[in-house]
Amino acid sequence: MSNTPYPQSYYAASANPAPERPALHDDIETDVCVIGAGYTGLSSALFLLESGFKVTVLEAAKVGFGASGRNGGQIVNSYSRDIDVIERTVGPRQAQLLGQMAFEGARIIRERVATYNIQCDLKNGGVFAAITSKQMGHLEAQKKLWERYGNTQLELLDQRRIREVVACDQYQGGLLDMSGGHIHPLNLALGEAAAVESLGGTIYEQSPAVRIDRGPNPVVHTPHGKVRAKFIIVAGNAYLGNLVPELASKSMPCGTQVITTEPLSESLASTLLPQDYCVEDCNYLLDYYRLSGDKRLIFGGGVVYGARDPANIEAIIRPKMLKAFPQLKDVKIDYAWTGNFLLTLSRLPQVGRIGDNIYYSQGCSGHGVTYTHLAGKVLAEALRGQAERFDAFADLPHYPFPGGQLLRTPLTALGAWYYSLRDKFGF
Ligand SMILES: Cc1cc2nc3c(=O)[nH]c(=O)nc-3n(C[C@H](O)[C@H](O)[C@H](O)COP(=O)(O)OP(=O)(O)OC[C@H]3O[C@@H](n4cnc5c(N)ncnc54)[C@H](O)[C@@H]3O)c2cc1C
Repeated sequence: MSNTPYPQSYYAASANPAPERPALHDDIETDVCVIGAGYTGLSSALFLLESGFKVTVLEAAKVGFGASGRNGGQIVNSYSRDIDVIERTVGPRQAQLLGQMAFEGARIIRERVATYNIQCDLKNGGVFAAITSKQMGHLEAQKKLWERYGNTQLELLDQRRIREVVACDQYQGGLLDMSGGHIHPLNLALGEAAAVESLGGTIYEQSPAVRIDRGPNPVVHTPHGKVRAKFIIVAGNAYLGNLVPELASKSMPCGTQVITTEPLSESLASTLLPQDYCVEDCNYLLDYYRLSGDKRLIFGGGVVYGARDPANIEAIIRPKMLKAFPQLKDVKIDYAWTGNFLLTLSRLPQVGRIGDNIYYSQGCSGHGVTYTHLAGKVLAEALRGQAERFDAFADLPHYPFPGGQLLRTPLTALGAWYYSLRDKFGF
C-alpha cells in the first residue's frame, strides 16, 4: 500500500502532533465528497459541516501535503491579478462582487484560528516592497483601488519607513497591509483538519481519488474503496493530475522553492525584520520571506514552469536571499524544499461546476492562502443554493495555454523571462 510522507520541510519538522488517519477501505455514502485536504478542501469541508452537510475528505497523501503545507506562509490579500485588470476584464457588477471578496480570506483565516484555537504562529502585517520607482507608483495606485473596496488600513512606506521594517537596501518604498500577516502553513492545515473532525467530518489519508463515475449519483473511486456522494468538490489543485481532464488544459502546475535558515540570534532576527512582518517584492518572479516562530528566515522565490523539481534548491534560492540580506552570508540553511502551485493564463482562479454536482476551485496562480479559504465559503454557499458569489468566479473567462501540452511550458517561461527583464530594466 502506498504511503506518501510529507516532503522534508521545516514545516514537517515543526508540525504540531496529528493523528495517523486511515486510508479508505470501504464503500461509503456521504453528502459531499471533497477530493484533496489542502486549504480549498478543508475550508470547503468546514463551511459545509457548519451548514449541516455530511462530509468525507479524500487525501492522496497527508493533510496539507500539497502547497498548503509547504508555502511561504504569507497571508496576502486579493488575487494574483490586480483588481483594475479584473475590472477591465469583467462587467461592473461581477467586478464589484470580486472586489468586495478580495479581503475576506484573511478574515476567514483569523476566525478559524480563533474559533478552533489553532496554534499556527499567526502574526499580523505584510509588506509589498517596491524595488523600482515604477513599482512604487503601482503600489500607490493599488492602495487607492483597494481602498475603494473598503480595505482602508493600508499604509504607504517611503524609503526611510521601509528601512524601519526591513533591513534591506534594495527597496524604494512599500505598502504595509496590517490585515495581511503570516502563519505556519502546515499547522494551519492540521488545525483545520482537526476542526473538520471535531464537527463530525471524516478524512481519509493515503486515499487518492483515481476515478469519478459522473451522473446523478456520482461515485469517487480510490484504490481500495469508493464514496457515493450527492456532491463532489475537486480541490486537488496542482497535484490533481488528469482526474478531471477538462480542467488540465487551462492550467499548468508550476514549482516554487523555499529555504529556511538555522535559528537566528534574537538580535539578528529583530534587525532584519523588527516588526516581524512578512515581505514580498513586486517583481513578476517575486521573492518572499518572513521569520518563523523560532526566528529562522524562511525565504522563497523562483518559478519552475511545468513543475520539474530542481536538483539543488539551495543553489537557486540562497543567492537571492544573500542579495536581499548580505548580512546572512555565514548563516546555515537547514531546510530546502519545493512545492507546486497551479497557474492559469489569466492568473485568476479556475472555478466552476461540471454537470449538476461536481464543483471545483483551483489555479490561484501563486497567491492562494487567503483565496482558498474564501473559495471554501463560496463553494459551500453554492451547494446550499446561493450561487451569486460562486458565479462571479465561475464566469471568469479561462483559455488554454498557447502551445498545447508540448510547448506551453517553454512559451510561458519565455513570457515570464520577458516580464522579469521588464522588472530589471524598467521598460
Ligand atoms: C512553495 C510555495 C509557496 C507559496 N507561498 C505562498 C504564500 O506565501 N502566500 C500565498 O498566498 N500563497 C502561496 N502559495 C500558494 C498557496 O500555497 C496555494 O495557492 C494554496 O495552498 C493552494 O491550496 P489548495 O488546497 O487549492 O491546493 P493544495 O494545498 O496543493 O492541496 C491539494 C491537495 O489535494 C491532494 N490531491 C490531489 N489530487 C488528489 C486526488 N486525486 N485524490 C485525493 N487527493 C488529491 C494533494 O495531495 C494535496 O494535498 C505558495 C505555493 C507554493 C507551492
